[in-house]
Amino acid sequence: MSKNRIAYQIQVRGLVQGVGFRPFIYRIASRNSLNGWVENRNDGVIIHVEGDDRNITKFLSDFETEAPPVSKIQSIDKTAAEFTGFTGFDIVKSSDVSGEITEISPDIAVCSECLQDMKKQVHRIDYPFINCTNCGPRFTIIKDLPYDRHKTTMSGFRMCDECEREYLDILDRRFHAQPVACSQCGPWYRLMVNGKSFTDIATIVQQVSSMIGDGKIIAIKGLGGFFIACDALNQEAVERLRKAKDRDGKPFAVMFGSLDTLKEFARLNEAEEKEITSWRRPIVLLESKKPLARDVSVGFQTVGAMLPYMPFHYMLFERLTTPAIVLTSGNISEQPILIDNDTAAEKLSGRVDALLDYNREIYNRTDDSVVMVVNDTVRSVRRSRGFVPSSIHLGMNVDGILATGAELVNCFCLGKGNQAIMSQHIGDLKNLETYRFFHETIRQFQKLFRLTPVTVVCDMHPDYLSTRYAEESGLEVIRVQHHHAHIVSCMAEYHLDEKVIGVSMDGIGYGDDGHIWGGEFLLCDLADYERSCHFEYIPMPGGDKATEEPWRMAVAYLYTCYGEEFLNLDLPFLKRIDESAVRLVIQAIEKKINTPLTSSAGRLFDAIAAMTNICTHSDFHAEAPMRLESAIEPDVAGQYDFTISEEISFRETVRGVVDDMQDNVPVSRIAAKFHNTIISVIFAAVSELAEKIGIRKIVLSGGTFQNRYILERVEKKLSDAGLTVYSPREVPVNDGGIALGQLVVAAKRRSKSCV
Ligand SMILES: [Zn+2]
Ligand SMILES: [Zn+2]
Repeated sequence: MSKNRIAYQIQVRGLVQGVGFRPFIYRIASRNSLNGWVENRNDGVIIHVEGDDRNITKFLSDFETEAPPVSKIQSIDKTAAEFTGFTGFDIVKSSDVSGEITEISPDIAVCSECLQDMKKQVHRIDYPFINCTNCGPRFTIIKDLPYDRHKTTMSGFRMCDECEREYLDILDRRFHAQPVACSQCGPWYRLMVNGKSFTDIATIVQQVSSMIGDGKIIAIKGLGGFFIACDALNQEAVERLRKAKDRDGKPFAVMFGSLDTLKEFARLNEAEEKEITSWRRPIVLLESKKPLARDVSVGFQTVGAMLPYMPFHYMLFERLTTPAIVLTSGNISEQPILIDNDTAAEKLSGRVDALLDYNREIYNRTDDSVVMVVNDTVRSVRRSRGFVPSSIHLGMNVDGILATGAELVNCFCLGKGNQAIMSQHIGDLKNLETYRFFHETIRQFQKLFRLTPVTVVCDMHPDYLSTRYAEESGLEVIRVQHHHAHIVSCMAEYHLDEKVIGVSMDGIGYGDDGHIWGGEFLLCDLADYERSCHFEYIPMPGGDKATEEPWRMAVAYLYTCYGEEFLNLDLPFLKRIDESAVRLVIQAIEKKINTPLTSSAGRLFDAIAAMTNICTHSDFHAEAPMRLESAIEPDVAGQYDFTISEEISFRETVRGVVDDMQDNVPVSRIAAKFHNTIISVIFAAVSELAEKIGIRKIVLSGGTFQNRYILERVEKKLSDAGLTVYSPREVPVNDGGIALGQLVVAAKRRSKSCV
């Protein structure tokens, strides 16, 4: 019987390293009686297979259907090769072949098989650093490519004979699992409390759980950095934790012991359940059902919830009596999350009651990621652990471009071929430590992804530190308007390359007329934009200070509508502000002293939040708009008047709010009517533009669309009117997504100038 013996060389690109891909290839090759080899290279996985052609066809279809869950295949290139008569199938040693790289896996939550192994594998009973090819640390421990143990922070740990046997056994789940470890040879936790230290895991779990039960606060080293934990039902402990972090006013993230307990405290739909239990294990913003300690959510009806993702979390919840713990980033104020043991001990001592670290270094810092589900679609809010450094595949070449992002919620982005590699959430660059983290991460990414940028792109804002970085780089600098970048970052996700109507709404972005923009309707494509319409310019008294003190924007709007007469209005918020301070603001507006003009949507929300006495002073970024949204009474249909001409004026809206306040209409109704007004404004302005210019594709972006009430209804209303609506999913809608937009604008302008 004659057989058609053929051979192929196959190159697979995508996320195929560190996700159990080679053992998978081995299994399907052996099952289909094929011979050859598989090799990890920095440009992907290369496979040589030979055998019967029917078996090769089957092998290729198994590829598609059975690939490991975390892997993401971008391309499979198959070329005919010479039949050489291999016997058996081998996994050959990795070689470093070119500057092209494949993708790096994000960190993966511990898998259920490993959790079972912890109860039965003799050398891993209760071993908290257990992992396998399907789970465990990845990005946080990788120093260089290709992904091999000696290029990770596991390099200092010599595998014991038992682990090595598993590592080399192709049929073992730990075959080539780079961080493979056991209680004989791997990393170990250390608990430090009152000058004593403990390394026995049973003692540690017992101590930590009883301390949390007693209301203590404890720093715990996680995958991408240190976190601080306490009982989420103990108000006193949560208050102390808040003090330990220095005036941090933001809601805290909460880890629940299991999905069942989580369901007692929060409501979640199918999409939210799927995301919160996924291998990425992000924080999901959910609606609260049963209260936790008051200070956890600081008055919001939502909870940032997550489930355990490290073996230690599971061990802790087995002993804890509380169903939930606060688990917040271990940083002080606005600094980056701590990663180094000594620095953590130094900075957190005196602030926490105990510190738990371990002796494996964190190389790439990552915070917990945050997502929300709106209209059944998962949206990124903060992109870090579990998501980074997965690349975003674009419809165009962006090679050699570095986009430096915004300033307050910074994330940068590197272009490699058709891939955009977004950094993890970096934070507020105005903080010196964060700015260092930004520099250091750019260096690390360039090394990891073997990329030396030739072009750098930044925001138009002259004072952003990300702009300064670009200017000091010595490279060609391209400047991109903030709101154009917002719209293009969303267009890039959907591979849109045409003219669209962009609705870009956020707090602050430098406009090309030198004013501060933020309520913008743009007619734009990937390279350029035209500003079609915007919110009316209003003075922003005190500049940046107005973002911390929303009452200033209330005064600016009231003064615009009523002149000084507004001082005679009966508005409770005015009683909270010193009259001389209000008069100073009026003077500053009249004399135009430090009062830039702004069309910002965020500042309008600030003004209404202050006018309704919901929030006159802001403790954290976007607090006033968040509180205004949180105050909404559901199912209120009314709205306020507004006018659309060259500009969109909210003078009638403000008068309506003032009238309602004086008529003692509950602020929850006013909040609802104001939100309904914004939705109507967006709908009216977009419909008019779409009608006039015949464009049916609408792109929504900017931090204002993190407002669930607005995004939900704007999307529905526009779609119901027959328009196609796009909003960001993978990349944050806030300034954390700006860098992707900058990158693509720069690439598009470059390709146009080459033609
Ligand atoms: Zn596992
Ligand atoms: Zn071992």
